[in-house]
Amino acid sequence: MNYKTIDDLGNLQGKVVMLRADLNVPMDENFNVTNTARIDRTVPTIKELMSKGAKVIVISHFGRPEGKGDMKNSLSHIVANLEKSLGKKVIFVDDCIGEKVKTAIANMNNNEVLLLENLRFYDEEKKGDENFAKELTASADVYISDAFSTAHRAHASMVAATKLLPSAMGRLMEEEVNALEKSLSNPIRPLIAIVGGSKVSTKLDLLNNLIKRVNKLVISGGMAHTFMKASGIDTVNENNSLVQMDMIETAKEIMQAAKSHGCEIILPQDVVVSKEFKPNAEHKTVGLGEIPAEGWSLLDVGEKTIASINSHLDESKTLVWNGPLGVFEMKPFDNATNKVAQHAAELTAAGKLMSVAGGGDTVSALANAGVANKFSYISTAGGAFLEWMEGKELPGVAVLKK
Ligand code: AMP
Repeated sequence: MNYKTIDDLGNLQGKVVMLRADLNVPMDENFNVTNTARIDRTVPTIKELMSKGAKVIVISHFGRPEGKGDMKNSLSHIVANLEKSLGKKVIFVDDCIGEKVKTAIANMNNNEVLLLENLRFYDEEKKGDENFAKELTASADVYISDAFSTAHRAHASMVAATKLLPSAMGRLMEEEVNALEKSLSNPIRPLIAIVGGSKVSTKLDLLNNLIKRVNKLVISGGMAHTFMKASGIDTVNENNSLVQMDMIETAKEIMQAAKSHGCEIILPQDVVVSKEFKPNAEHKTVGLGEIPAEGWSLLDVGEKTIASINSHLDESKTLVWNGPLGVFEMKPFDNATNKVAQHAAELTAAGKLMSVAGGGDTVSALANAGVANKFSYISTAGGAFLEWMEGKELPGVAVLKK
């Protein structure tokens, strides 16, 4: 690996190890954590550091606090969940810098875990302030960054702090970066990408990067409507689809550029049209020449398209996927997303496909398809995952290069 990992940090016995995690979990109005995934995924790194005899200081952002003392966004609300997942008591300090923190760290024993208060209680965190990073790391010997989901931001704890001490990525970031490198930077080919979702305008950077890197690009979901119109299907219009008329020229340019890079673009061959935008509304599958110009909306792609995408998957070795193929939140318009996701999962289980997916709604779409644990890797990192797919350098990852 080209990045520094925990293995490069040497003996951690008795060392004060500061771990930048992402504990930004969803919470209800009574401060109950509603999904512990982010906590659970950080725990293996914490346990490894404890087993190496370190004193582990966990830091994280949480929500969007309005300054210090915004108790709604206090990390104290997650202490019980962290203790449960870790199977060990966690000491909590209600600040992340200052004397209180120094004293608590000085009183720690090896193998203990201390959680500090929300980093974003200080504006300096988001500003990437070096002095704040110095105060934050004042008592630490070693720094580990494990918050891949924040790696697209040059915040103090993501960049400045890593430069002040011997630093490395945690196991979660290592896993994520490995999966992303295998999928886009060093893939086994043929490499296929599936891009769905609502609008072309939000995915321009993604499409422009993918056409340079992938062998095949499947475009589906609402964003395919603009490409269908651009390819001459006139019955696709603003009354029945998510076509973006001001993006038609851009779509044509993308298709042209794809050709020059040797990337095959795969568009829908049939669509599911619905009378209304609601679950189980009257619907039918139609070929491209039969799309009704009025009175129906294009909410999913049909069986012919599903079969075509699946056979392209059969011929591929690596898949990257962002965005649902249809309106997966409403049955039966989750059909195409489900069937293609299940086929990708089967190929993955058979060892024939390395499958990576992520970004926004993709995680829930794949969970809805029942394949949440059946892809090679599903990234929950949202913005950071997308920026990586867009070919951008993530400051929080770049700073950990060897
Ligand atoms: P995005 O955040 O851009 O990946 O978009 C995800 C959203 O795209 C989901 O909420 C889907 O319901 C929506 N979507 C996918 N296909 C369609 C479609 N054919 N018509 C309308 N919305 C769609």
